[in-house]
Amino acid sequence: MTALTLYLFRHDLRLRDLPGLHKAAERGRVLPLYILDEAAAGDFAPGGASRWWLHHSLRALQTSLADRGGTLLLRRGASADILRQLIERTGADAVYFSRGYTPWERALEGELHRELTELGIDCRRFGSSLLHEPEHIANQSGEPYKVFTPFWRACRRASEPAMPLPEPDAVNWAEPPSPGDDLEDWQLLPDKPNWAAGWETLWTPGEDGASERLARFLGERLEDYASGRDFPAQESTSRLSPHLHFGELSPRTLWHAVRAAAEQHPGLHKPADKFLSELGWREFSAHLLFHFPALVDSPFRPDFRHFPWGGSKPRREAWQQGRTGYPVVDAGMRELWQTGYMHNRVRMIVASFLTKHLLTHWQRGERWFHDTLVDADMGNNLCSWQWAAGCGADAAPYFRIFNPVLQGKKFDPEGHYVRRWVPELAALPDRHLHAPWEAPASVLQEAGVTLGEDYPEPVVDHREARETALGAWQTLRERAQNAD
Ligand SMILES: Cc1cc2nc3c(=O)[nH]c(=O)nc-3n(C[C@H](O)[C@H](O)[C@H](O)COP(=O)(O)OP(=O)(O)OC[C@H]3O[C@@H](n4cnc5c(N)ncnc54)[C@H](O)[C@@H]3O)c2cc1C
Repeated sequence: MTALTLYLFRHDLRLRDLPGLHKAAERGRVLPLYILDEAAAGDFAPGGASRWWLHHSLRALQTSLADRGGTLLLRRGASADILRQLIERTGADAVYFSRGYTPWERALEGELHRELTELGIDCRRFGSSLLHEPEHIANQSGEPYKVFTPFWRACRRASEPAMPLPEPDAVNWAEPPSPGDDLEDWQLLPDKPNWAAGWETLWTPGEDGASERLARFLGERLEDYASGRDFPAQESTSRLSPHLHFGELSPRTLWHAVRAAAEQHPGLHKPADKFLSELGWREFSAHLLFHFPALVDSPFRPDFRHFPWGGSKPRREAWQQGRTGYPVVDAGMRELWQTGYMHNRVRMIVASFLTKHLLTHWQRGERWFHDTLVDADMGNNLCSWQWAAGCGADAAPYFRIFNPVLQGKKFDPEGHYVRRWVPELAALPDRHLHAPWEAPASVLQEAGVTLGEDYPEPVVDHREARETALGAWQTLRERAQNAD
């Protein structure tokens, strides 16, 4: 009997560019396995929208494996217990998986390594989810970076990411010893109400869906990426984030595909560079969370520990439901609820609004995004929320407070985005669309809008909210100076 390796799929739900799967296939038979270990993930277990994605992604992986003669074994529970039982039943002598970078994944890997090694099992993890392992990028003093630009320069100086591996051919798949769980029984899909109805027309979770989206991005969108990526009504960004999060597409594959496109068409060099630097922010977030795990629940800038967060529940709910009275904020929050996604520019606007205009703790926003985004990603989400709140690494200074009206006018000048998601304002002329409360009564009447009835009055006045936020920040600074 040849050696048997359990290949544990994690955030790498694909068959291409998977170093651990190659190594497992070289050893002999391979039993593919996915464990839903919600207790290990704790507060970072998949939220509602991620569960929808996970269901479909696992279904796609099951199908791909079945086409190749393999059966994906699904189990739910404590990873170490399940692996121990499986090893006993199958005689497997190795467990391979892709490594994770978040605190809970690292803790779980440590536990698995300890327990399985004690049993004499070859337990190995492989880097497959980042371009550069976080231990390999350090400044001249050997310290992790805290600022993006030098971090990304160091990444660009480091060796080119390796070429992606093809899918391993002719894997000797082993049959599971028992049928395992039925995916339907995990009840990952929403029911009563099914708030994700129609999402299948927006997204195609799985490796094939990721490849199709990448091909479309390269063929139709990359050209306009640098100039169009900040305009939410233009479909200029890739929307690859959920595919990257679930590992249906490896960052190395993406990196080399974008570079190859730019080599073929020199006009694509600039947008390709811009795109790769955005992928760099994903690397940076993983790097930060890896080296500074306290980011999970503490501000990166320690002075913010005493920031007087407040905010009222009704206002927070108005934000969640897209009823703040600020059209670009409401459009973003409704896009999120209806599609599981929000454009990056609008994410920045709504996060600034929640933390600065409504003085609500950034963790409230992080939790809402965690539950509602299909691309909810612990590193990206935590770091971006702290960045937007002004307390993160390399954050925009706190005193720079986005004006939602000016942001709307600048990045949605013709109002296509707002009209799509806030249809009750559709008939307002462009010049009043982003601040309907300033429109003359006759204009509102002609557009069929009664403020307070069809669309809310603003929950806060921008200027007053700005002054209050700056006052809170000033108090914090004075306190910090007095403490020095
Ligand atoms: C408050 C807030 C919360 C966020 N939460 C998440 C999250 O949970 N998950 C997530 O993947 N991204 C998050 N982002 C980052 C960013 O908004 C999304 O990655 C991006 O909008 C995804 O769309 P795209 O794939 O079309 O991006 P593209 O512009 O096509 O970028 C390509 C890829 O680069 C990465 N990327 C791009 N911008 C960023 C960024 N600013 N930070 C980190 N990675 C980036 C993503 O993996 C993205 O798929 C957040 C941003 C903000 C301001």
